[in-house]
Amino acid sequence: MEFVLRAFLNGADGVFIGACRLNECNYITHGNYHALNMVLLCRRILERAGLNPERLRIEFMSSGDGILFARVISDFVDSVKEMGPLGEGEGVSRDELRSRLEEAIRLVPYIKMAKREKLEKRLESRDEWEGHFTKEETDELFEKAASYYIEPDECRACMVCLSRCPVGAIAGGKKRIHVIDQEKCIRCGTCLEVCRFDAVRRISGGPVPPPLPEEERAVRGKGGKE
Ligand code: SF4
Ligand code: SF4
Repeated sequence: MEFVLRAFLNGADGVFIGACRLNECNYITHGNYHALNMVLLCRRILERAGLNPERLRIEFMSSGDGILFARVISDFVDSVKEMGPLGEGEGVSRDELRSRLEEAIRLVPYIKMAKREKLEKRLESRDEWEGHFTKEETDELFEKAASYYIEPDECRACMVCLSRCPVGAIAGGKKRIHVIDQEKCIRCGTCLEVCRFDAVRRISGGPVPPPLPEEERAVRGKGGKE
């Protein structure tokens, strides 16, 4: 999902994914079903970013389907040309598009966690494709993506959250109040789960307080007071 969104972030006007026919995957993982679900969700994410979801297409074919492949590709190229350059065709400014796609990319791990069951489902008929992920569901997904914040007075500098954060979004150290870099945070919630001192706050909908300035980060909470 991240690769697809990055392709658009880097200016691709369209992304085509060619997969083996459903039910003909050589591996027990049947990755083509997963790819299909990923594309269906990604198309909703593109829609949310203001892009035409038709810019992303997946088709299933075998290595013997040369004629079909050529037909599908030229049809896709024609339709992308008709849509125009990315964003311009939809009337979304370059900066706005960049910030929407960057936000989506940052949330990919959270999105994959939140939608894990549906992303693993095997959709057997085309009729199921359209409604598998809805626009409302995708909007809700983004709106519910909470931010996390460390309450300076509660932090005991135990460094557990720092060691468990999967993306290195927490700055801290011995006897230093820890702070979360909101730009790097992927909203996984691990810091909230692992903090034994109830110092991490989950913020939904409201603004996140600014991080403490570097020079004020000496621990001042209970226990760890200098
Ligand atoms: S926020 Fe919690 S887990 Fe992280 S350093 Fe502070 S006390 Fe430890
Ligand atoms: S929610 Fe916490 S653990 Fe997860 S990425 Fe953000 S700062 Fe790191």
